Amino acid sequence: MTHYRDNSSTSRDRSNFQTTWGRMSIMASALLAWALCFCLTPVTAAAQRNGNPDNQDLDPTLILISIDGARHDYLRLHEAPALSELAAMGLQAHTLQPVFPTKTFTNHYTLVTGLYPARHGIVDNNMYDPQTQQRFSLGNREQVQNPYWWQGEPIWVTAAHNDMVSGTFFFPGSEAAIQGISPTYWFTYDESITNRTRVETVLEWLEMPDPERPQIITLYFSDVDTAGHNFGPASEQVAQAMHAVDTEIAYLIAGLKARGLFDQVNMMVTSDHGMAAVDLNNHIIIDEAFDPSLAEQALYSRELVSIFPEPGQQDTIVATLQQNLPPQAQVYTQETLPERFRFSGHHRIAPVLVLAEPGWAMLRRSWLEGMLSDGTIEQVRGGHGYDNQAADMQGLFIAHGPAFRQPHAIDNISMVDLYNVMAAILGITPADNDGNPEVVSQLLRP
Ligand code: AMP
Ligand code: ZN
Ligand code: ZN
Repeated sequence: MTHYRDNSSTSRDRSNFQTTWGRMSIMASALLAWALCFCLTPVTAAAQRNGNPDNQDLDPTLILISIDGARHDYLRLHEAPALSELAAMGLQAHTLQPVFPTKTFTNHYTLVTGLYPARHGIVDNNMYDPQTQQRFSLGNREQVQNPYWWQGEPIWVTAAHNDMVSGTFFFPGSEAAIQGISPTYWFTYDESITNRTRVETVLEWLEMPDPERPQIITLYFSDVDTAGHNFGPASEQVAQAMHAVDTEIAYLIAGLKARGLFDQVNMMVTSDHGMAAVDLNNHIIIDEAFDPSLAEQALYSRELVSIFPEPGQQDTIVATLQQNLPPQAQVYTQETLPERFRFSGHHRIAPVLVLAEPGWAMLRRSWLEGMLSDGTIEQVRGGHGYDNQAADMQGLFIAHGPAFRQPHAIDNISMVDLYNVMAAILGITPADNDGNPEVVSQLLRP
């Protein structure tokens, strides 16, 4: 069940928006009717929209688009004509550097807060909190919607503090009332909602009358990440997924143009991390490299394993791992983890971390046996979560709109630097964050 809700904590009265997917279905039917009409009579529809005084002189507006797992070089590797054109007209970074660990929730939440995970608390997709002894995973809605996990201030909360309307068609963090505030319009994550519905809803938001129209909007697409995991970054399936997402971006751009909004709205297209080719024959059986019974909790992913030792057992665990691990995996403690990871000082960060080299996977014996028996061992071809300096972990960044220097190319941008940029576009004061404020003038027009 998808919910369509307002944020009752802002001063404007939007109580009529408290409704459910039923309303969304009505909206979708209306949109379909509109889309059909628009396709048949594009000139008239566009003219009508251009004539709509409500669409003139928009307040600063930003659409943040996340293409999960789109590696920095995908525009060169795969065909994505709309994104390539947007990059050529607008601003493109050679790479977008994620934070460590290069996981989905971690990086999405850094993007919207400007904080390192050690400050925003989303230190991995799967987490253990030793203070509450609760576990978090991205499929656990109760925990995903629990504000306890989400520290810091995402851009839609900063916007709400400035009495601005926001809309998220999916974004990690958007389902929790952080500081008691949700985005004005938000949905429970549901992968089955088509990308087209997401884009059409965003276009509909932009048609709303001024007091209800969101100024900060997010859109999220998972297809490229999924294809990358299942078939590898260079695969035909990733090419198809990039092309499919590109078609949705083209549809969004056409919709903005038809409404006379393309030159008024700012768009930021990002990814959360890249993707490394993985061969599960390059595996390490991690739960035989130490004694898991000596751990209070262990969180396993193929790239990064987090171990919370039982009291007094850390040294034994570390020594055993050092003895048993091959050179393709490193064991770190909070004392030995390189400073550049900026991954210390939060109680949810495990005292012992094991990190694999890109392309290598850490498996539990039971996983390996399960995958060997059902053949799924051949179905994992890509991964992320590795060192955030690794070339394959670098993401994509394209921006377009009146706020940006364009056409313009920059070398590298860091995930932590984008929250300040978003706040500047919206003309609001950012909350305290880890971003370099100088990046704002590198990206935005004076
Ligand atoms: P990862 O396991 O790091 O590859 O995460 C990617 C997956 O996260 C995608 O396939 C999505 O299904 C899932 N995902 C993305 N956004 C959300 C969200 N807001 N809530 C729950 N799951 C999500
Ligand atoms: Zn991701
Ligand atoms: Zn992924």
